[in-house]
Amino acid sequence: MTNLDSRQWIDGAWVPGTGRFASINPADGSVVGHAAEGGRAEAEAAIAAAHDAFNRPDWAQNPRLRQSVLLGWADRLDAQAEDLARLLTLENGKAIAQSRGEIAGAISEIRYYGGLARHVPGHVLEVEPGVLSTMLREPAGVAALIIPWNAPAVLLARAIGPALACGCTVVVKPAAQTTLLTAAFLRALSEVPGLPRGVCNMISETGHSAAARLVDSPLVDVVSFTGSTATGKRIMVAAADTMKKLSLELGGKSCCVVFPDADPAETAARIATAATIISGQQCTAARRVLVHASAFDAMKTHLRAALAAMTVGNGLDPAIRMGPLIDRPARDQVQAQVERAFDACDEVLLRGGMPADAPAAASFLTPSLVAHDDPSAFFCQDEIFGPFVVLERFETEAEAVAKANNTVFGLSASVWTRDGARALRVARALRNGTVWINDHNRLFAEAETGGYRQSGLGRLHGYDAFADFTELKHVCQTVGTIG
Ligand code: NAD
Repeated sequence: MTNLDSRQWIDGAWVPGTGRFASINPADGSVVGHAAEGGRAEAEAAIAAAHDAFNRPDWAQNPRLRQSVLLGWADRLDAQAEDLARLLTLENGKAIAQSRGEIAGAISEIRYYGGLARHVPGHVLEVEPGVLSTMLREPAGVAALIIPWNAPAVLLARAIGPALACGCTVVVKPAAQTTLLTAAFLRALSEVPGLPRGVCNMISETGHSAAARLVDSPLVDVVSFTGSTATGKRIMVAAADTMKKLSLELGGKSCCVVFPDADPAETAARIATAATIISGQQCTAARRVLVHASAFDAMKTHLRAALAAMTVGNGLDPAIRMGPLIDRPARDQVQAQVERAFDACDEVLLRGGMPADAPAAASFLTPSLVAHDDPSAFFCQDEIFGPFVVLERFETEAEAVAKANNTVFGLSASVWTRDGARALRVARALRNGTVWINDHNRLFAEAETGGYRQSGLGRLHGYDAFADFTELKHVCQTVGTIG
């Protein structure tokens, strides 16, 4: 059962806050439920609980318990998967098929890390005769997990999974807009028998004072933050004094490089889907489409048609492919950026806006497409977190790579061609943490993701996520030789 009046989870108890705030359905402005308002004091209490729990051996040194808790949690989530998917669509607005996929992906990821909990090995070397160097991979301590609203289930799972599996204790701080979903997820964890008190805590707030305390508290060892590059930079500065390990999954400006041998209609349809996933509010969503000059006009026609055909409306309707943006301030900000782009671009190909028949309190925005040749334009460089796509043109492979790499970001990109050698050559040259070939937005629990340059630090998903939540300790012992 989902909980539509969520509390904060501190030291094993679900406690109220100093007040409550409403979670609003962006499809119609209705109230989905209420969440506890916390702040710095709740952050302090949660950090203290996590710190105490880390210092007891029952979690940090007990991989079998960690595995059984993670697997037990996944089973409980599975039993409520449909309720959780509906709650995700109610709070976030995304199409129900995307919510179902996200909940299933999050559960699968918790199982993946449950499996790995019993395999966090170090290594041993005999560095000289009779001298053994043992490298122990140890949990780093208390991890603060700051999770955004765009994919709150899977982005929670990919951070809390490796953190708990390797023996860290955690404090979770969801985005205000999706607090109910996070609380419902963690409520299921709190019901798993054997979970020690204080291992996982959750605080909620509408402002940022609890999050800021997570970042500067001397008792927090790791901050795992998924959000914008601007906030990531502020967190780096605030975390400097206590020299925290930082796991930063930040913004992107994903570029699709389309060669003339790619089928224009099929490629355009798939890129339109990749651009409008979560209404364009996914860090890896397709944003720039670089097309070879000989295929440019065909791509213009097909991409405009595919984006214009996108069904926009309440995500609970299974016929809808694109829901609203997360809230009115986000919609207004994206719309203002898109309108500035319309004024500055070479050609407006599809002019998105608010659908005329939408409820007054909703935050819908239909897709927009522009064509532009100068990659230094603000709308080719800045992350615009909504359904907005720029078509650009190139003549040679080298020009395509240079244009695609002309960005401060480096999160993800895709290459579209039937020439296998060219696909790998270009993928190799693109400076991004993930490159898809004839596909876009495919993410797996098993495959590390993360950013080059200003898209972040570290990797989540996959085995290497343990690097973000562990320290490597060298234990040296002289044992001598026999004889
Ligand atoms: P945001 O940066 O505005 O906020 C994210 C979180 O940071 C919120 O929970 C907020 O409370 C917290 N926060 C804000 N100020 C803080 C501070 N000073 N100290 C500590 N915490 C603070 O991001 P958003 O708009 O909610 O999310 C969208 C962004 O997230 C986009 O830029 C998107 O690309 C990025 N994102 C990246 C990935 C990835 O894997 N790289 C995944 C999803 C989203």
